[in-house]
Amino acid sequence: MKRTFDYHPPTICYDKPAAAIVSQAEYDAKRLRALAGIKVLELIVPKKTARTWTMQAGDLCRVSLPEGSQVGDLNLWNLENPRQERFFSGKTRQIHSTHLKTYDRLWSCFPYLRPMATFVKDSLEDYGIDRDGGSLHDVAGTRCDDYIYKLITGKDRVGSCHSYLTEAVKEHGLGEQDVHDTWNIFMCTGFTRDTQQYFCKPSPARRGDHIEFLAEMNLLVALSACPQGDVSIQVGQQVPDEKCFPMQVEVFRAS
Ligand SMILES: [Zn+2]
Repeated sequence: MKRTFDYHPPTICYDKPAAAIVSQAEYDAKRLRALAGIKVLELIVPKKTARTWTMQAGDLCRVSLPEGSQVGDLNLWNLENPRQERFFSGKTRQIHSTHLKTYDRLWSCFPYLRPMATFVKDSLEDYGIDRDGGSLHDVAGTRCDDYIYKLITGKDRVGSCHSYLTEAVKEHGLGEQDVHDTWNIFMCTGFTRDTQQYFCKPSPARRGDHIEFLAEMNLLVALSACPQGDVSIQVGQQVPDEKCFPMQVEVFRAS
């Protein structure tokens, strides 16, 4: 006979720590002060590559799509101590949720566990959670990599967010071991209701869409323009070049 269990309604695991709740008015003001200041950096992450940049605490970063729909894989390190303190996607997911919304924060690893950045603007916030549980900007997936590609297809390949990020961080003395689970910006993902498997959908992001985050410490940031493009084609299948687009990065500093 099949065993039965008592039913209990779900309880949210964590009481949100005070540091996870920001004043929206304060962060809106910080954002506007930065935007009214000077633009200290502008760069393009070409399609199917990754780039790095640095930010000072208080800087605002806007990542936008200048040409077309494209997802990005983002990594963060403490600029002063990158080998030890980096973004912790798992705990960020538990403190907030699988998909980040504006005013959620991106947390660092143990023993620090503190905000590295705060998400302050999302041109796609109206997407919300769709009928399949799909939503944007997840901290649930990892990053695409050539090792899983080989397991699935049997083929060798160098060309994934993991390999691009690994290449990009070399100029900062970092390597493959420093690349970590990502914030998957513009990506539309969820878990199937029946089997709880990670799924993705074509990104609803379009040319001109953007997100912004404020740095809470001096940061080294790396962003990969995913070779899956808008993720409308399943991993393991050929993604045509015209499905992939560059991403634009701008950093603003209050003066
Ligand atoms: Zn990728």
